[in-house]
Amino acid sequence: MARILVIEDNPENLELMRFLLQAFGHEALVGRQGEEGLAVAQREQPDLIICDIHMPQLDGYGVLARLRSDPVLRNIPCVAVTALAMLGDRTKVLDAGFDGYISKPIDPEKFTDEVASYLKAPPAAPGAKK
Ligand code: MN
Repeated sequence: MARILVIEDNPENLELMRFLLQAFGHEALVGRQGEEGLAVAQREQPDLIICDIHMPQLDGYGVLARLRSDPVLRNIPCVAVTALAMLGDRTKVLDAGFDGYISKPIDPEKFTDEVASYLKAPPAAPGAKK
C-alpha cells in the first residue's frame, strides 16, 4: 500500500482513479487543481503523485516545476496522466521531467499495474502484514 496523490481537474477521472487506487489498497489523496494539489503534496508528502497535464491556471508542467524546485518534494515520483495522441507529446512529457505517463482514457484493467510500476518499493507480499 502506498499514499498516492492524484491531481486532476476532471471530476469523473479523479473519482475513477481514486476508486481504483483505494480498491487496490492504496491511500488516495486528491487535488482538484494544480495549486490545491501542491498544497496537499506539501502537507502529506505522498509516495507518488499522478498529475493531469491539462488543467486551468496551473497545469501539469507547472505543478511538476514547482515540485522539482521544492527540496522536500523534489524526489517524489510524478507521473503525468493525459491523452497522448502523438509520440511528440510523450517526448514532451518525459523531457519535462515526469517519471512516466499514463494515457487517458484510464483503463481500469491496467491502471493500478501502471501505478505500481512507478512506486519506489514494491508492495508487500500478500499476507506479509501480521
Ligand atoms: Mn484536465
